[in-house]
Amino acid sequence: MKKVIIIGSGMGGLAAGIHARLNGFETEIFEAHSKAGGQCTSWKRKGYVFDGCLHHFGGFAPELAFYDFWKTLGVIPCEQVNIKECVSAVSPEGVYFHDYYNLEKLSSHMKSLSPNDSIVIDEYIRRIELFQKGDPFGSILLGTTWDKVSYLPYFIKRLKYFKDTLKSFGERFEHPLLKKAFPLLNYSLPNIPLFFYLSKHISEDKGGMDWPKGGSITISNNIVNKYQQLGGVIHYNKKVKTITTKNSQAVGVILEDGSAHQADYVISNADGRKTIMDMLSGKYTNDKTLQYCKPQDDELRSFAVMVFIGVKRDLSSYPSSLIMFLKEKVEVVGEQIEHLDLQIYGYDQSMAPEGKGVIKVELFSKRSYFDKLSSNKKQYEQEKDKVAKQVIALLEQQFPNLNEDVEVVDVATLSTWEHFMHGTDGFDNFPNKKSSILGAMFGDVSMYTLPKLTNFYFAGGWVTSAGALILNAKSGRTVIQKICKDCGVKFKR
Ligand SMILES: Cc1cc2nc3c(=O)[nH]c(=O)nc-3n(C[C@H](O)[C@H](O)[C@H](O)COP(=O)(O)OP(=O)(O)OC[C@H]3O[C@@H](n4cnc5c(N)ncnc54)[C@H](O)[C@@H]3O)c2cc1C
Repeated sequence: MKKVIIIGSGMGGLAAGIHARLNGFETEIFEAHSKAGGQCTSWKRKGYVFDGCLHHFGGFAPELAFYDFWKTLGVIPCEQVNIKECVSAVSPEGVYFHDYYNLEKLSSHMKSLSPNDSIVIDEYIRRIELFQKGDPFGSILLGTTWDKVSYLPYFIKRLKYFKDTLKSFGERFEHPLLKKAFPLLNYSLPNIPLFFYLSKHISEDKGGMDWPKGGSITISNNIVNKYQQLGGVIHYNKKVKTITTKNSQAVGVILEDGSAHQADYVISNADGRKTIMDMLSGKYTNDKTLQYCKPQDDELRSFAVMVFIGVKRDLSSYPSSLIMFLKEKVEVVGEQIEHLDLQIYGYDQSMAPEGKGVIKVELFSKRSYFDKLSSNKKQYEQEKDKVAKQVIALLEQQFPNLNEDVEVVDVATLSTWEHFMHGTDGFDNFPNKKSSILGAMFGDVSMYTLPKLTNFYFAGGWVTSAGALILNAKSGRTVIQKICKDCGVKFKR
């Protein structure tokens, strides 16, 4: 039996492990951290669960390809928590817009909010319905080349709808809340194509976008359980230092504790730069890979700072994802902001002690903002404290006297992720190259390998340049398809 060593137990590493086992390979995963899942994680503080990752999970509609994919990885079955709205927005005056999954409810809610926008609202509903036919996103993201080709007429028919972004579509509304909220519906990234956001509406209100009870850690734990049930081995607190090679072939790894482990194939789910420049000492590069290894530009990043607040307050009546518009512009973590992005976990009783709840506020920031502070622990902690206080004060605009109910606060920055994930760019493990939504959806096969090195593959963010569980997990499956091909074994699933 051929042996595969996998460095890292993020989505790419774990999925590679499962598919390797399903195809008859012996596997060992070495994980630097004390738990599996990589970025798909949460942590506990005084009984509150702070979820670092999951916002929406598209996997519970059996008729869509996502369902089978997550089922193979063991995520499904799990307990589902029904979510009624994709994203909500609230004005400073307390007026709510809910982007409900149920289209009848959505239409009547939007029309009662803004009768003058009836035509645009009908158009929005029509677009959702257009992309609800078939399984366009499943076929592109998970399908074979044939699946993708067979969906070409589907997409050609809808071509004219591709040019709208959330921002351009939002401009059509008269109602000030809808106008302001629409551009921000997809994690406050206004230039995201509208059709891409519509993927979240794909299963209407049939529970396809439900929340796996427990959130990110349920996903990671379920995948680990499946991997182990299949006979896969995982070692925690085992950081890989070197990938060993012989005649330009990867033959194993050496850990930080000095132990050496041999394999027929090595897969790295770890940071690409560190894999190439440290674990392989920069030996397997060309101009392209060296360019990829250059640091990313210091741009404004979503989720760069996350403020978690555990409150002794029942939050079950609040929407799950909320864009909260502020009374006036303020500066937070060096950026002028007009709204806060909230996740409110009141719908999942397992995220907080009984009768209590968790609010997560996500802020945009530049990597350099906390980077420059993180060398001075005191200053870094002071800044985190300042941000948390500022955020709680702002939340009081919609959650009166919140401060009195705060029991725990935690702030995670890009430096936090870098520390725990052993990466070089916050949480992303992306190469320095142009990325696009279409590129992420179709994938770039050249990213799986390195020049002149055989029996070595990458899985995860370095390959996909995408912050998406499904794409990074899929890259793990693709790697095993490639290894099966190398070995002349027919890939089973
Ligand atoms: C704040 C945030 C919010 C997100 N929200 C969503 C969301 O709502 N929906 C969604 O689909 N996706 C979301 N994502 C993205 C998603 O979590 C990631 O794309 C995905 O988890 C990354 O998987 P990966 O395979 O790249 O591995 P990673 O998660 O990057 O894991 C890599 C693993 O390798 C380990 N490792 C590193 N170096 C070594 C070494 N030398 N030796 C051994 N082990 C090592 C690390 O400890 C880690 O466990 C979010 C991510 C973040 C950070």
